[in-house]
Amino acid sequence: MIIDGKQAAADLRKTLAIEVAQLKKDKNITPSLTVVLVGEDPASQIYVRNKVKQTREVGMISSEIKLAVDTTQEQLLEQLEQLNNDNSVHGILVQLPLPKHIDESVIIAAIAPHKDVDGFHALNSGRLLNGEKGALVPCTPQGCLILAKKHLGEDLSGLHAVVIGRSNIVGKPVALLLLQEHCTVTITHSRTKNLAEICRQADILIAAVGRPNFVQASWVKKGATVIDVGINRIEDENGKGKLVGDVDFAAVEKVCGAITPVPGGVGPMTIACLLKNTVEAARANA
Ligand code: NAD
Repeated sequence: MIIDGKQAAADLRKTLAIEVAQLKKDKNITPSLTVVLVGEDPASQIYVRNKVKQTREVGMISSEIKLAVDTTQEQLLEQLEQLNNDNSVHGILVQLPLPKHIDESVIIAAIAPHKDVDGFHALNSGRLLNGEKGALVPCTPQGCLILAKKHLGEDLSGLHAVVIGRSNIVGKPVALLLLQEHCTVTITHSRTKNLAEICRQADILIAAVGRPNFVQASWVKKGATVIDVGINRIEDENGKGKLVGDVDFAAVEKVCGAITPVPGGVGPMTIACLLKNTVEAARANA
């Protein structure tokens, strides 16, 4: 089975549009997201454009603040302070990566945690670690969980989940979400020994590595659910650019029980979950 991330994202946006309308009706609140973009990185511009478009499509307010590439860290911090103090803004997202002269960790720490819809602030990651309610959880990991449940249903308890990758934005938070779901979780990374052998034990295999076609069919247990987070741009046989995931899709598809494609898998879910976080942030502060 191929898990259709595009469809799942469309379904989630539909539900969110209803919730947004309800919030307007009941509390006269329209959730609003402000995206801050520093510089002119072409990929970031596309991501921001998509975020703005989809935010508006579900009936929310979307603002974009574009800052010059030579904006100083202090200027960006001042901008964030203004947004933190602006009650009409429910969600703030600073598009990463930032130019080299700006320290990302300082910027993430300066976003008010209750407006941190990327879920990268230490307070939100700490809440996720502690299993506390009210955490804003990073978007891509949330998307992975929703997609895994599309195939496995709501109850994941007792399943062995193997996560490849330990980044703060994907690997670690997705492992914590799976632990909350009562999975047995193994986190693997670049120093892991016997990676293939560990992956073969997985009922749920999450690949967040950033290496094209890295996960081989021989690493996958028959019937496993495979969630491919990777987005890698490679050249095809004709020299044309194309996107592939971290999993050798054609081979793994024959062994696994379900798999997310790239593109059209985890990617669309990431923005949908950003909208979900913004609705939650607006509701929590209503
Ligand atoms: P990252 O570079 O921060 O982390 C990669 C992880 O892979 C590291 O923890 C590293 O230990 C591990 N790794 C590297 N080589 C390995 C090896 N040989 N064996 C085992 N583990 C190895 O990357 P990230 O930000 O976590 O992103 C991972 C991938 O997911 C990238 O392709 C990225 O583009 C993609 N991504 C997609 C979305 C989405 O919306 N679909 C969102 C975020 C990231």
